[in-house]
Amino acid sequence: MMKYNLHTHTKRCNHAYGEDKEYVENAIKSGMKVLGFSDHCPQFFPKKDYYSFFRMLPEQAYEYAENVRSLQKEYKSDIKILLGFETEYYPETYDAFMDFVRPLGLDYMIMGQHFVGNEYDEDSFYTANEGRGKAFLSQYVNQVIEGLDKGAFTYLAHPDIVNFSGPDDYYREQMTVLCRYAKEHNIPLEFNMLGYLNNRNYPDYRFWRIAAEVGNSAVIGYDAHSPEVLLKIDAAGECAAIMSYFGIHVLDFNEMELRNEML
Ligand SMILES: [Zn+2]
Ligand SMILES: [Zn+2]
Repeated sequence: MMKYNLHTHTKRCNHAYGEDKEYVENAIKSGMKVLGFSDHCPQFFPKKDYYSFFRMLPEQAYEYAENVRSLQKEYKSDIKILLGFETEYYPETYDAFMDFVRPLGLDYMIMGQHFVGNEYDEDSFYTANEGRGKAFLSQYVNQVIEGLDKGAFTYLAHPDIVNFSGPDDYYREQMTVLCRYAKEHNIPLEFNMLGYLNNRNYPDYRFWRIAAEVGNSAVIGYDAHSPEVLLKIDAAGECAAIMSYFGIHVLDFNEMELRNEML
């Protein structure tokens, strides 16, 4: 299978390291044929004094796009480079976000729902915090489905990010809804290598058992926050082996729809 990764950050998000070029060169060393940059996108919150520091600022986005496009040309005989964003879906800010994104002419976007709610408002929650209960899980599932339904996302990053501590049957019921939606709309689910390597609460094997039953397809996402991560091809192989143990098909790049008509 062709080696590729569509989940790559850059130092602009304030919690990733290294130069864009180093990510590209390590991807080439690893034998990747496609490298997608999907840094944490800017967001446009109505509350003027709120800004989250785990994403680039709007004014950095043009430089990001230009730099990725110039690397794309520079390395075109070695690797296919794609320009993208990873974003949450926030109902209140989605339109402003899309208005901002369109002129950049992205190749794709992935959805990673780090918060439920609109992030800046009081009843928003960071999804990976411990002890998430029932109401929280159904809110997550509904918001993710509403976002995916916009038809603008290539895949769902770390679908299992919710750190749910409620009853198993409720987890099963809610995540089945999410998995069925993804299956019906041909949206792959990401097995997140960053979580795997750092022993985070995701990948959550409760989730992947459900995905296997529903018959979802998976993508291995490196979620690289430093160039060195792109050298960990053995770890990516382990992730793929886990997916095949579950009986889940891991998509080749050519099997994926980028779904970027709206971008
Ligand atoms: Zn990040
Ligand atoms: Zn990410």
